Amino acid sequence: MDEKIIGKCIKCGGNIIEKEKYYVCENRKAIKDENGNWHTEGCDFIVFKDTFRRFGKNKLTVKEMKKFLKEKEVVVELVSKNGNNYKKYAIFDEKWNIKIDFDTNVENVKKEKPVKEENLTESAEDTLTFHI
Ligand SMILES: [Zn+2]
Repeated sequence: MDEKIIGKCIKCGGNIIEKEKYYVCENRKAIKDENGNWHTEGCDFIVFKDTFRRFGKNKLTVKEMKKFLKEKEVVVELVSKNGNNYKKYAIFDEKWNIKIDFDTNVENVKKEKPVKEENLTESAEDTLTFHI
């Protein structure tokens, strides 16, 4: 099987290998116990390529994954239920390995969308509070 190393594991520093459907740490071992149940040992870092499918992103690309492994975050483009594209940060998470940070806006997307005047007042207040 053609396996490619695409970066270093955020959790243990091992190599991250690209497989057909996921990116996985070389130190993640799947072991079958005496009852025939599978469990994993070692590092638990694995990210499925379709991990954000429910947010409208069918595949996390190698390029995105490489950036994520280096910087612990990467901007990804998602599609809302209404069919609108929007961008969010995918960030490192101890439990899920990668997750969407819905609380943080990606700035260059904000600029593309016209803001209503009433919203402007609100965001100005937000900014003021933030600086205090
Ligand atoms: Zn690892």
